[in-house]
Amino acid sequence: IYGSGRRNSKGVNLNINSQYQPLVDDMARFMDKQYYYRPLLGFDVPEDDSQVKKVISPYDHEQVVGSIQWTTASQAEKAVEAAWKAFPGWDATPVEERSAILERFADKLEANMAELMALCTREGGKLLTDGVDEIREAVDFARYYAARAREVFGEATLLPGPTGESNELMMMGRGVFATISPWNFPVAIFCGQTIAAAVAGNTVLAKPAEQTSLVASRVIELLHEAGMPKDVVQLLPGDGPTVGAVLSSDPRITGIAFTGSTHTAQIINRSLAARENAALPTLIAETGGLNAMIVDSTALPEQVVSDVVGSSFQSAGQRCSALRVLYVQEDVADRVIDTLKGAMAELSVGDPSLLSTDVGPVIDEDARKGLQAHIDKLKGENRLVAETPVDESIVSKGSFIAPTAFKIDGIDTLETEQFGPILHIATFKASEIDQVIDTINAKGFGLTFGVHSRNESFTRHVAGRIRVGNVYVNRNIIGAVVGVQPFGGQGFSGTGPKAGGPHYLLRFGTEQTRTINT
Ligand code: GLU
Repeated sequence: IYGSGRRNSKGVNLNINSQYQPLVDDMARFMDKQYYYRPLLGFDVPEDDSQVKKVISPYDHEQVVGSIQWTTASQAEKAVEAAWKAFPGWDATPVEERSAILERFADKLEANMAELMALCTREGGKLLTDGVDEIREAVDFARYYAARAREVFGEATLLPGPTGESNELMMMGRGVFATISPWNFPVAIFCGQTIAAAVAGNTVLAKPAEQTSLVASRVIELLHEAGMPKDVVQLLPGDGPTVGAVLSSDPRITGIAFTGSTHTAQIINRSLAARENAALPTLIAETGGLNAMIVDSTALPEQVVSDVVGSSFQSAGQRCSALRVLYVQEDVADRVIDTLKGAMAELSVGDPSLLSTDVGPVIDEDARKGLQAHIDKLKGENRLVAETPVDESIVSKGSFIAPTAFKIDGIDTLETEQFGPILHIATFKASEIDQVIDTINAKGFGLTFGVHSRNESFTRHVAGRIRVGNVYVNRNIIGAVVGVQPFGGQGFSGTGPKAGGPHYLLRFGTEQTRTINT
C-alpha cells in the first residue's frame, strides 16, 4: 500500500511527464467549472451572501474558480456541539467500519483524481505533477491509517496478570478534534490530519486554509459519500480569527492537529492553555523549517545541483521541507554554483496547468509581496548569485516569484523561513564542519536536512550531530513517502508524532487499562 507516489531519490521531476497527458486531457472538463460551496456541517447551513468570498486563481487573477461561503462564529459553535454529541457513538463504532470508510474514500480520491488536480492547480496554483503527488499521498494516508487503525484501535492488548486479575490495555478516541490545515498541501495534509483523527474514534472539525477551501470542500464531499457521517467529520471553511478562535477556545475541544507556521502554533497553544474548566488538550503541530544541506568536496556536483533545484524550487519552494540554506565546502563552491546557475537559467516559470512549466505561482499577493521584499533586501546588499529569467507578459497575470539564489554568510544571518523559491548559499572550510552544524542547530528549527558526500564517515558524523526530524543523504530533501519516510520535525518545527509514521495515530487516542477480577 505504500509509495504509490512517483517520488524517489532520483526524482527532481522537472520538465518531464508525457505520461500525464491522459490525466491532463481528463482535467479539461474541470478547468472552467464554477464551484460554490457552503460549510459542510452536521446540520443544514442556509445560503448567506454576506459570508460568500470569491476564489481567484493565483496564476491568473482574472480567472474565477468559484465562491465559498465562510462559517460564522455561531455556526462553528453549533458544529462543536454536534461533534460533541456524535463522539460517543462514533468512538463505539467498530474500528473495522471506520477503516473501511477510509479505504472507500481512497478509492474515491483515485476515481476523482482529474477533478482534484484541476482544483489544486486552479485554486492552489499547483503544478500538474505536484497535483498527482498530492492526491496519491492523500490516498496513501487513507490506506495507511486505515491499516494502522485496525492494529492500534482493534483488539485490546493483553497484559500479564501476576495478581491473579486479568489486565488489558485498550486504545480509544479522545473526544472532539479540530484539524487546521495549510494551503500548500490542500489535499494530502488536509486529509492526513482529518482522517487520522476520525479513524482513531474522534469526531472532527476540519478547518481548511482560507486559500484552498474549494478543493477541501470537494474532498469532504467525497469522504461523506464514502460513508463518513456528516456529524463525525464537519468542514468549517473560514478565517482564522473567526473559526480558529472558536476551535482553540471551546472547552469541548480535546485536541488540535495543526500544520502551518510556528507563530500560529504558538497562538493556538496559548489559546488552548487559557481555557477554564477544559480537559488538558493535545496539540499536534507540524510547523516551519529553516532547512539546510551540507555539501562536501567529495560530492558529485551534477547530482548536488539536481537535488538542490528540486529541493528549493519544486512546488515554488512552498514546502516546509524545502531547502533554504545550502552550505558548500569552499573548494568546490565555484563549480557547484556555476552548474546551479546553468540549471536555474533553464527553469520555466509560468502557467502551472502546462506540463512544460517547472515553477508555478506562489499562493497569493501577500506571499508574493513578502518574498519580494526579502529578495529586494538581499539584492540591495549585492548578494544575488542567480535568478531565473521570466516572461513578464505571463508572470504579471498572477502572483509569481522567479527562483533566486543569494550568497549569505551563514544561516544565523536569516531571521526566519521564506516560504518560496529563494535559496541562500554559504561556504565553509573543512575544519569548520562542526561549527556549521551547531549554527544550524542553534536556529532552533529541526525539520529536514540534507548531506551530500561520498565519504560515509562524514555523512554519519553529520547525521549524528544534526538535530532534525528527517535527514536525507545524497538525494533531495522533499517528498517524504507515507509509511516509508515518516515526516515531521522537532523544536520550532513541530511537536511530532510523525505524519505517515507508525506512531501517528497513537497521539490521537487515549489509553484505558482494564483490570478485571476474575
Ligand atoms: N511532507 C512534505 C515533504 O516531505 C512537506 C510537507 C509540508 O510542506 O508541510 O515534502
